[in-house]
Amino acid sequence: MKLRTRVVHTGKETDPFTGAAAVPVYQVSTYRQADPVNLGKYEYGRGDNPTREAVEHAVTVLEGGKIGAAFASGMAAISSVLMLFQPGDHLVVTEDVYGGTYRALTTLFHQWGLESTFVDMADPGAVRAAVRPNTRALYVETPSNPILKITDLRSISAIAKEAGILSLIDNTFMTPYLQRPIEFGFDIVMHSATKFLGGHSDLLAGVVVTADEALGNRVRFVQRAFGAILGPQDAFLLHRGIKTLSARMDAQQRSAVVVAGALASTPGIEKVYFPSLPGHPGREVHAGQADGPGAVVSFELADADTAVRFMKGVKLPLVAVSLGGVESILSYPATMSHAAMPREERLKRGIKDSLVRLSVGLEDPADLLDDLSASLKIATGA
Ligand SMILES: *Cc1c(COP(=O)(O)O)cnc(C)c1O
Repeated sequence: MKLRTRVVHTGKETDPFTGAAAVPVYQVSTYRQADPVNLGKYEYGRGDNPTREAVEHAVTVLEGGKIGAAFASGMAAISSVLMLFQPGDHLVVTEDVYGGTYRALTTLFHQWGLESTFVDMADPGAVRAAVRPNTRALYVETPSNPILKITDLRSISAIAKEAGILSLIDNTFMTPYLQRPIEFGFDIVMHSATKFLGGHSDLLAGVVVTADEALGNRVRFVQRAFGAILGPQDAFLLHRGIKTLSARMDAQQRSAVVVAGALASTPGIEKVYFPSLPGHPGREVHAGQADGPGAVVSFELADADTAVRFMKGVKLPLVAVSLGGVESILSYPATMSHAAMPREERLKRGIKDSLVRLSVGLEDPADLLDDLSASLKIATGA
């Protein structure tokens, strides 16, 4: 079946116990045991919950994986995956990794003894050179946040296989609707489901999907033992959001293409980052591994002051942290997604103080462009 069909018909989209059209919120912590010696499948809420199970299954089917696990947030999912490693292990991580992941790796996991080297993953040679005898995984984000740099999934998974180590990817920006890394040999796919998967800016969630069952069972063990699980109410909302994923992604991406194209020829916009724009250095690689450019566009204004004036002047997009909602969201990486990264590290990665990031929502793109250009005129005094 085609992906758009599977978005709706996951195989576990109805309630197995009543046939209800949607798996309801099983708002429970525990389950009655008919036999106190041989416990049933549902034992305790940290281990299993039917609402959570339904959404875990949905994302697993879409990613083409074997086992999925849902967590309380994207960072809970990522941190739980990092618990698969041990003190003394080493990871090679994309240099423009999400700010919160950078923070967790360089503080908490660093203290704990998990080492990381950050490299430009657009350069496979640099990745290969960073692999040490104690390296256990390569960690990728493509397109990266916020400047949408592209990493070649095939070459990274080949390097991992050659070295006998795991390949991990944060697939938040694309969702499985547009990019399925397991098809390219990746072992673990992670999501902040807070973003496009949930899609409505009304929940926090994270999901992990593994390519094989043994690895999936290790993630499930961490989920149960570490306990950063997704609650039933949020699992329900996430599942509901995923049912419209294809319609939302199609519409938001279509508008993002229009917006990125228009911004690229707007005076006062210094540079536009969008994976399908002519001149984007990763355009060909991206087209060879994803089904579209997505719905996030980043762009630079003349300087930081202009960027701040511009953000203060917009009326339509929500000026906020986050992305992937039905409403357009305009973010300032310097104080938001990448505030956790020291300024010099951020600048080294090309994330300037004049950069803003726009997650295009479901508004009519003409209205969005009118609003952006009106605010730009005021910000630049044009
Ligand atoms: C938001 C985000 C995260 C963190 O997810 P939370 O749900 O906020 O914990 C991780 N990776 C990427 C790419 C993100 O955009």
